[in-house]
Amino acid sequence: MFRKVFDIKTNNRIEIKDITQGIQLIVEQSHYNNGIVIIYSRHSTSGIVINENEPGLLKDFKLALEGLIPYNGNYNHNCIDNNADSHIRSFFIGSSETIPFYKGKLDVGTWQSIFFVELDGPRSRKVTVTLIGQE
Ligand code: ZN
Repeated sequence: MFRKVFDIKTNNRIEIKDITQGIQLIVEQSHYNNGIVIIYSRHSTSGIVINENEPGLLKDFKLALEGLIPYNGNYNHNCIDNNADSHIRSFFIGSSETIPFYKGKLDVGTWQSIFFVELDGPRSRKVTVTLIGQE
């Protein structure tokens, strides 16, 4: 097993950050050829997703999140720290992805990127990257 904690600094309340290259570098540092990599966000107001890095689509995704789960809903959790929308968006997005790698390269499709989704920024975040594989 190989493990690395990936630090992410976000600058906006909602931010969709492409972390594919950082994950690929960690795969290379592990010296494993084949296996799986688990990308896990240790936070309840963020997410990890795989999709296409096209600027218009990322804007659409942000707008969809805001439309489906509005900031100003009548939420119970808001009497605690006023970020229920961030938690609920995170419930739907999920906190991890598992991706295979083969011959030292992430085995993702041409149009697939790995994103960290900030839902309650700006903040400093930690993403745990765990590899199970063989040299
Ligand atoms: Zn909260």
